[in-house]
Amino acid sequence: MAKIINVIKGTKDILPQDVGEWHRLEETALNVFSRYGYQEIRTPIFEATELFARGVGDTTDIVNKEMYTFEKSDRSLTLRPENTAGVVRSFIENGMSRLSAPVKLWYKGPMFRYERPQAGRQRQFHQVGVEMFGIKQPAADAEVILLAINYLKALGLNDLEVELNSLGCPKCREEYKAKIKEVLKPEFNNLCEDCQTRYEKNPLRLLDCKVESCQLIFNKPEIRDVIFSDFLCEECSEHYTQLKEYLDRANVKYVENKLLVRGLDYYNRTVFEIKSNNLGSQNAVCGGGRYDSLVKNLGGDDIPAIGWAMGMERLNALLPKVEPELLDGYIVSNSPTEAFALAEELRAEGKKVEFDLANKKFTKQLEKASKVARFALILGEDEIKANEVSVKNLETSEQKTVSRSDAAKMV
Ligand SMILES: [Zn+2]
Ligand SMILES: [Zn+2]
Repeated sequence: MAKIINVIKGTKDILPQDVGEWHRLEETALNVFSRYGYQEIRTPIFEATELFARGVGDTTDIVNKEMYTFEKSDRSLTLRPENTAGVVRSFIENGMSRLSAPVKLWYKGPMFRYERPQAGRQRQFHQVGVEMFGIKQPAADAEVILLAINYLKALGLNDLEVELNSLGCPKCREEYKAKIKEVLKPEFNNLCEDCQTRYEKNPLRLLDCKVESCQLIFNKPEIRDVIFSDFLCEECSEHYTQLKEYLDRANVKYVENKLLVRGLDYYNRTVFEIKSNNLGSQNAVCGGGRYDSLVKNLGGDDIPAIGWAMGMERLNALLPKVEPELLDGYIVSNSPTEAFALAEELRAEGKKVEFDLANKKFTKQLEKASKVARFALILGEDEIKANEVSVKNLETSEQKTVSRSDAAKMV
């Protein structure tokens, strides 16, 4: 026997019995997002490596450690580790900045990161996300957050909690960064290795560190005071206040978290996460924020933008299984040609119908019908002669004989 070839570590088949839960995520997205005026965009799964280096940020773990990069004809290409950069590239390349604002786009699909596989984390994983371009006002921030909440609710996830923060703009954030660096300077040698790297490149990311020794340092009163100081300039402060007013007006409960900085370099002002308490434990299911300088950084016009992404595997893990759908009818007959013809008649009427292609014994067919369909459509010799079908409800065992032309109405 030939050697079996296995699926690659960190990747997974989505099998027919599981695909229903993916359809649920996708159909709900199409339904809810279109209510807010979003249109789907599908960008390639690989792009120029430079797009992610510039678009995601070369101080992030994603770009430094986790990208699948390969060479082809002297070009460095990368499987997309996220999709904001690709959507922004397409927005610029296709002249969407000339469309009247806002431009609202959503996407779904596989992303690729070389991480250690563990429960719920794969190297090929899937995200659904939205990006809105062209609006700098806080109403846009509020609307994308509400969109995320309503998507999660439509899926059946309740008990949601929004965490909110403002990272300010380049102007006020630089001062804040400088203050953080200054107060942490005496502690530099006590910081973990990652924090020491971030200290130079992006000190805000320090606040994200989960290492206990770092947390202890951040909790020292004089350091805490700086981290929790109000550094926002007047415009940023006003933006943040207005966003909270919109959320209050929509009865959205949120908690402000000064330590919420998100993993990517490009965010400014609003950042948020949504957590679900489904299944007892708290899970972050959505993360996003405003990225007003990204379009410009990638060569486009100076156009503000905001968006979020959700991991689809994570969502599925929090939701109940979707039972595979039963057929409307399974035809039981000793005449395969008649069964074949009836199946086609019913399919033409939009019914989900099968018959036994292998023409097994009548009793075997009946057995199969009871497993896969809601109705057995019995086509015996008598029925064929009379141009009729006996329709058996497989749940109640009720049976009725009707004319063949009425069969579609019965199932
Ligand atoms: Zn500011
Ligand atoms: Zn650290």
